Amino acid sequence: MTTTDLRPVDPGNLSSTTEHIELAESVMAHNYHPLPVVIAEAHGAWVTDVEGRRYLDALAGYSALNFGHGHPDLVAAAADQLVRATLTSRAFHNDRLGPFCRDLAALAGMDLVLPMNTGAEAVETAIKVARKWGYEVKGVPDDQANIIVAADNFHGRTTTIVSFSTDEVARAGFGPFTPGFTVVPYGDAAALRAAVTPHTVAVLIEPVQGEAGVIVPPADYLPAVRELCTEQNVLFIADEIQSGLGRTGTTFACELEGVVPDMYILGKALGGGIVPVSAVVSSREILGVIQPGNHGSTFGGNPLAAAVGHAVVRLLATGEYQERAKVLGEQLRLRLEALVGHGVIAVRTRGLWAGVDIDPALMTGREMCERLAVRGVLAKDTHGSTVRLAPPIVIEAADLDWMVDQFAAVLADVT
Ligand SMILES: *Cc1c(COP(=O)(O)O)cnc(C)c1O
Repeated sequence: MTTTDLRPVDPGNLSSTTEHIELAESVMAHNYHPLPVVIAEAHGAWVTDVEGRRYLDALAGYSALNFGHGHPDLVAAAADQLVRATLTSRAFHNDRLGPFCRDLAALAGMDLVLPMNTGAEAVETAIKVARKWGYEVKGVPDDQANIIVAADNFHGRTTTIVSFSTDEVARAGFGPFTPGFTVVPYGDAAALRAAVTPHTVAVLIEPVQGEAGVIVPPADYLPAVRELCTEQNVLFIADEIQSGLGRTGTTFACELEGVVPDMYILGKALGGGIVPVSAVVSSREILGVIQPGNHGSTFGGNPLAAAVGHAVVRLLATGEYQERAKVLGEQLRLRLEALVGHGVIAVRTRGLWAGVDIDPALMTGREMCERLAVRGVLAKDTHGSTVRLAPPIVIEAADLDWMVDQFAAVLADVT
């Protein structure tokens, strides 16, 4: 299909959409506030709703869909595995897990992989590994381990993870909280240095803060974190769940600053948008502290997940998607920067990933996303008047231009 064929049609009659939304809202807990669009089909960078309207997916499942909806290699890997074996439990070996972990470790330049399912579980895993490493290798006294995190972080939704969130909406009502975390401002290496104590076992940060609005730290920050962690015998844990696996134009966002952490936390795109697949990837010395019975998951490392994850690793091993994100990201950056002063206050980009701050006097990020949806672009606001744009890396260059055209048109309507 050509780009023109994919342009959305007139919004038209909403009855069927309304019925779907009314049903969903009457039977589901209200833990999300979705845009009023009911998706029925999705291919590549485009989705179709129940009324046949087409939308460009500029969120890509929070970067779980880096390779687009229904990537043929990923669908083939899943379909093939679906009829072979889907779940064995880790009580037994399966023939997919070893090859997947070998190639994922190689992609990351690490030794060992601990497979889990969701991102939050992988973050929990990293916390447990860091604490155990702290007691057994670093020699921190029992129950005294401390982990330093950054303000405005997003690492998931479990009780321990929201314990060190600074987002009151995510925390309020969920105490008592897990101790053992210190929060410092993001991007401030001096504040981080001042917070390190002999009980510090790890620094856990996102190399780019996605949910906070695609916040890119100062260029010398990640190198300073690396240096400090090495000097103080503290683990540098990079949560690359959203920033990793091609989004930023490199396999890992840390690479952009020439930095290698001690541990990567991966998720989202690792499952190709098909199944939840997450992992902690690290050295033998660090992940070696985990012994049978210490940690596990019924579904972690299942053969279906491993087959899809392995296919994702194969896509990334070519470098093709990283290069595409870099080239398209440059196009996105140039187009968005031209909007600064025309309703846009600031733009931050890393590869095919942008945080756009709209003039709050014009509209909120939510209003922008509602107006974009009417124009056939699905995006997600983060905080206040910030909108995040992260379309699948398979998006066509012309569609990317069209996406920014819609953004500009919404602003032109109100300026
Ligand atoms: C999405 C995300 C998580 C949590 O992943 P889930 O699969 O939703 O549990 C953790 N860290 C970062 C940086 C994320 O973007």
